[in-house]
Amino acid sequence: MRTYNIPIFVPHRGCPFDCVFCNQKRITGTNNEVTPQTVDNTIKEYLKTINTEDAKIEVAFFGGSFTGIPMSEQTSLLSVAHKYIQMGKIHGIRLSTRPDYINREILDNLLKYGVTTIELGVQSMSDDVLLASGRGHTSKDVVNAVKKIREYPFTLGLQMMTGLPQDTFEKSIYTAEQIIKLQPELVRLYPTLTIKDTELERMYKNNLYTPQTVDEAVLLCKELLLKFEAANIKVIRLGLQSTDEISEGGSVVAGPLHSSFGELVQSAIYYDIISQKLKDVKNSDVFIYVAKGEISKATGNRKMNLEKLKNEKNINAKILEDINLSKREVVINAVKKAPNAGL
Ligand code: SF4
Repeated sequence: MRTYNIPIFVPHRGCPFDCVFCNQKRITGTNNEVTPQTVDNTIKEYLKTINTEDAKIEVAFFGGSFTGIPMSEQTSLLSVAHKYIQMGKIHGIRLSTRPDYINREILDNLLKYGVTTIELGVQSMSDDVLLASGRGHTSKDVVNAVKKIREYPFTLGLQMMTGLPQDTFEKSIYTAEQIIKLQPELVRLYPTLTIKDTELERMYKNNLYTPQTVDEAVLLCKELLLKFEAANIKVIRLGLQSTDEISEGGSVVAGPLHSSFGELVQSAIYYDIISQKLKDVKNSDVFIYVAKGEISKATGNRKMNLEKLKNEKNINAKILEDINLSKREVVINAVKKAPNAGL
């Protein structure tokens, strides 16, 4: 069964102030106010394009703090989507919000109108990082919100950022460990980008903030991903959604923006596995077998992993598929290189 999200952006709605890194209008590429009519129109338009057979379709309210919107407006937006659930045309509603805007009255209302998944913006579990990022809530608010959400049958997602002001590699590892203790069903991981017209841009231009490089973000996200996977927590997003505004509109001033960020992280994990298996091999031709569908991750963006093997160990590698292998399983067949021979 395929899963489809019908995204409805509520840029900056319900947010009590600006987090230093956030400019939702630029990130989501939309300035429009959302009304019940726009929700209805968006759902209708998307449904025309989706093959609804064997599909799981959810309406997703993203880009603001949904539960910070006045209750009557939350209800009027949700009731449109709920109508489509009752007609059997969509199967659920997901939304993102802040941890300090969760209480039982709010949760009762979300449940009543068919919300199935709540994603909380945690960002960090280090209070100094939260403070420096202008989040306006603490790590304790996250723990309290999760406890309340767990009294209901919602699926819980937690969003984490790396490279925030005052953040470090160690603090991010700590945040991941705290998130794992909270046992969400899913996680999104976002390296911080410096977006135009934000406080973070001002901090960056005044040398008060140093963004992560792509390599630093990949190295850290690799460790985080492995931690979440080991805890059986699904990471459903690695890196910011690339809207036209972000990729083409010049909205990103600095930071680890890469159109294939998730792929870079997966490839880095493969490189570690492959180089560990080849630790005693040099100057050879090797055949590397990986699972079906994993060749591009094992090869790396622009054949990066093959280049590294060549440069670091004088290994000529060819990566092949073996349907008997499972994800991240790697089998090596190495042949000592004959003079002037190559793959
Ligand atoms: S709460 Fe979320 S949407 Fe609102 S300003 Fe902060 S990061 Fe942006």
